[in-house]
Amino acid sequence: MAFSIRGGRRPGTWRGGATRRRLAPTLWLLVIAAALAVPWWILLTVQRAEEQGSWRVLSLATALAATSLLAAAFVLPSRLRALTSHLGVERLLRQHRALALVAVALVAAHVVFVLAHSDEGLGVFDLRTAPPRVWAASVATIALLAMVGLAISRRSRSPRYEGWRLVHVLLANTVVLATTLHVVWLQDLTRHDLGRIWFEGLGTLMLAVIVYRWVWRPMRARRNAYVVDQVVDGPGATSVVLHASGHTGVPFRPGQFAWLKIGASPFVFEEHPFTIASAATEPWRKEFAIKPLGDFTEILAGLRPGRRVYLDGPHGSFTLDGLRSSAFVFIAGGVGVTPMLSMLRTLADRGDRRRAVLIVAGRTADDLLHRADHEHLDARLDLHVVEILEEPPQDWRGEVGWLTEAVLHAAIPQQRVPGRVDFFICGPAPMVAATVRILDDLGVASRRVHTELFDVV
Ligand SMILES: Cc1cc2nc3c(=O)[nH]c(=O)nc-3n(C[C@H](O)[C@H](O)[C@H](O)COP(=O)(O)OP(=O)(O)OC[C@H]3O[C@@H](n4cnc5c(N)ncnc54)[C@H](O)[C@@H]3O)c2cc1C
Repeated sequence: MAFSIRGGRRPGTWRGGATRRRLAPTLWLLVIAAALAVPWWILLTVQRAEEQGSWRVLSLATALAATSLLAAAFVLPSRLRALTSHLGVERLLRQHRALALVAVALVAAHVVFVLAHSDEGLGVFDLRTAPPRVWAASVATIALLAMVGLAISRRSRSPRYEGWRLVHVLLANTVVLATTLHVVWLQDLTRHDLGRIWFEGLGTLMLAVIVYRWVWRPMRARRNAYVVDQVVDGPGATSVVLHASGHTGVPFRPGQFAWLKIGASPFVFEEHPFTIASAATEPWRKEFAIKPLGDFTEILAGLRPGRRVYLDGPHGSFTLDGLRSSAFVFIAGGVGVTPMLSMLRTLADRGDRRRAVLIVAGRTADDLLHRADHEHLDARLDLHVVEILEEPPQDWRGEVGWLTEAVLHAAIPQQRVPGRVDFFICGPAPMVAATVRILDDLGVASRRVHTELFDVV
């Protein structure tokens, strides 16, 4: 190891990442299992199943399970650093969607079981005569269905991201509020002490998460504000360099990202995620390479030096820190090279001479964003760079076309312990998926393959 961890932590060095990253998914699954099992146990403890009637038990059980899963789905995207840094943003969003879908299925089952044990049949849902608790349940169900429907159809409809996100957040909070009112007014699940404690616990957790996400994190971003140092418009991307204002900079791991806000205060709703491309050894300086794509990225290119901006981060688990690797292979498509730049710059600053291979693929030479740094990094690292272009210029001496198994195989460093090479892939989703498949065919263990997608949402 080229950097010391004795005597405190140097900027940009982190301990125990690998173990925590391996354990995090298991721990999270245990939390989900507990969220499902504890309410069942409560239900069966307070009253024996046969005394309650099987339809009633089923309706209560599905209601309990659905509320627990909704709470978990609500907590996941709330930027809790322990979750974003150890689960990773990709897995986190996958689980968020999966939990929400299972919760919808449970809500549907709950409605069926309620109908089965109700004397009124469908009349129980007649909103003209229904009590507030039924109104609350109806509002929660409609909001939940609308949320899932809008999320599923987003790819095909391509609405403006910010508008879609606002509606998603409003619907999610409506689901939480209406479900809480339904449970409180119905008093079925809270009649017994254990059930009440469980729901009060869930309610407190959700409230704490809302305050953390929408109040505490922006306040922290205001305390740790940054000012724009430099904006350089390049052919393939705009480089934006920020400097910590009145603090020493928020530490991060190379490869992590932050949500950037450029409004008058950190409480503005619009924010976009960008990977920090600079070295983790200089937390007071944060550089981003930004590809113009839509309105926000266009605005960034026009930022003036001295402008105050806010960062919510760092987040993400796409980092080499904490891994016991003997070599690294970084595979990037286009602007997906930003986390690789941060990792390479950090390795260089730390004097870490472990073998590193950087494979960058792009359409034209403008997409080769690493080139500005290439010579500088080459002199300080044991680095081999492979460039692949789809539309190369006339005097091109690199690879042509797409990343193939042959190119990848030739680039993999031959190590005394081959299993300790870690692969980092970031780029467009089809490229990441194809590369993962190639590595699988080459026999690389999946735990050595780390991916990041910029279009996860
Ligand atoms: C973890 C992560 C790291 C990223 N790092 C970089 C980077 O280093 N450099 C870079 O150029 N791009 C990066 N991106 C992509 C960048 O966030 C989007 O290109 C940017 O938000 C587009 O905003 P826009 O308004 O200019 O374009 P739009 O046309 O509004 O959006 C284009 C697409 O970008 C995505 N997007 C838009 N807004 C958001 C948002 N608030 N949150 C998440 N996704 C959004 C949506 O999929 C949308 O369809 C990263 C994305 C993620 C998820």
